[in-house]
Amino acid sequence: MPIDYDAVVVGSGPNGLAAAITLARTGCSVLVCEANTTIGGGARSAELTLPGFLHDLCSAVHPLAAGSPFFKTLPLERFGLAWIQPEIPLAHPLNDGSAACLYRDVDFTAEQLAGDSGAYRRLMKPLARNWEKLANEFLQPILHLPRHPVALAQFAIPAICPATVLAKLLFKREPARALFAGIAAHSFLPLEAPVSSAFALVLGLAGHAVGWPIPKGGSQQITKALADYLRELGGKIAMNHCVNNLDDLPKSRAVLLDVSVWEFLRIARRQLPRWYRARLESFRHAPGIFKIDYALSSPIPWKAEACRRAGTIHLGGGIDEIAATECDVARGKIPDRPFVLIAQQSLFDEIRAPRGQHTLWAYCHVPFACNVDMTDRIEAQIERCAPGFRDCVLARHKMSAVDVENSNRNLAGGDINGGAADLAQLIRRPTLSPTPYRTPLKGTYLCSASTPPGGGVHGMCGYHAAQAALREILSKH
Ligand SMILES: Cc1cc2nc3c(=O)[nH]c(=O)nc-3n(C[C@H](O)[C@H](O)[C@H](O)COP(=O)(O)OP(=O)(O)OC[C@H]3O[C@@H](n4cnc5c(N)ncnc54)[C@H](O)[C@@H]3O)c2cc1C
Repeated sequence: MPIDYDAVVVGSGPNGLAAAITLARTGCSVLVCEANTTIGGGARSAELTLPGFLHDLCSAVHPLAAGSPFFKTLPLERFGLAWIQPEIPLAHPLNDGSAACLYRDVDFTAEQLAGDSGAYRRLMKPLARNWEKLANEFLQPILHLPRHPVALAQFAIPAICPATVLAKLLFKREPARALFAGIAAHSFLPLEAPVSSAFALVLGLAGHAVGWPIPKGGSQQITKALADYLRELGGKIAMNHCVNNLDDLPKSRAVLLDVSVWEFLRIARRQLPRWYRARLESFRHAPGIFKIDYALSSPIPWKAEACRRAGTIHLGGGIDEIAATECDVARGKIPDRPFVLIAQQSLFDEIRAPRGQHTLWAYCHVPFACNVDMTDRIEAQIERCAPGFRDCVLARHKMSAVDVENSNRNLAGGDINGGAADLAQLIRRPTLSPTPYRTPLKGTYLCSASTPPGGGVHGMCGYHAAQAALREILSKH
């Protein structure tokens, strides 16, 4: 049967583009079909509030992109991608008006955590030294033969612990505990859940090893660099092309789907064998988010001076408060004092806003598919640490979990990570297999954040899925 392309990729998110590049680099002809009118999925930017204010629609801060073993092999700087390292990667304001901070340097971070300096250094220093080895180990399916078993075991023992247990066992004082809990909350898991510590460790270590950088000109620049490189390799991208049925795709040897498990079920349900369909149907969502982008007349008047020099801010108070909030969300309850993640890109990238004015990117965790307006609760959390914040607001752009889903078919219910990342679903993502990208449909692979290693802008799901397709299908021709 004549073919139109060696491979068709459905979806132009970071994983779809990573898959397409991996294939095109070996000489395959590749077409990417994107449902939206813009490419990039979770890595896009636009003027959402007022003219001259450039906001990140989804991802903003990129430790995993900067630390991605695959992205490192690509000439993305040649296509305009430049990383900006905020002076302080992360600040976490505390109830006494001070802030705990993650700095690039492990020793300096430890020194600031008075009372817990030794414990922080003992936990992070040996792991940070092994970052390159570890990044390769955990940014792939869990079921694999480790190349660095000793380094991995050193990481895995603390990583499997619930964050509340590890933080309270190791640290005596609130600053270190709160800092650890805030980073662990990126997991969207209750902090009493196993492996919630893994997220604090991976993101904390990335902060020390590669920083928590932002791309100059917005996260769209990551997409632009990937897409420009793909086109240079001969790849094609078709926008406004929503795939509703696999049979409608151009003829190809391989199909790689940068779509969530639930979108895959929608477009391929009839073709999938019952046993596989049942496995996908049992895959569980993570909670959702409520997001606000702000245009501000001035920088945020943070009480803690460190927050004025940080790219990312975690708001939620101490460890017990954050744990209670995340537990509420996991149980489907709307938290009164939500855990809020903030990025203040325009402090470090003047392109983002008119001179003297600023953008602010903020979201909080909410129950799956929650349609409640969280604006007052988010702003109350910011006002706690920055009295007078509301006076700086020029305009707001809000997205409920339902609006988030409407902006990208992959983000059902506002779940931004392609499915819960609990212990079971880290192992079985979405099925228990050393090649979880492969589906029972010949030549058809999943390559989205619903596959290992999961959510975040790093392209590793796309890279591994494309490697599987190359091994199993494309190298045979
Ligand atoms: C609000 C928000 C904040 C985030 N913050 C960060 C952050 O700061 N740092 C970070 O690293 N990560 C962050 N993330 C997560 C990150 O954006 C995602 O994990 C990442 O984009 C996943 O990449 P992907 O390629 O798997 O899927 P996506 O980026 O979701 O891309 C999938 C693409 O496929 C398209 N598509 C879906 N179905 C079809 C179909 N049937 N036909 C054709 N096209 C289709 C979609 O339109 C989309 O363009 C954030 C996400 C959100 C939503």
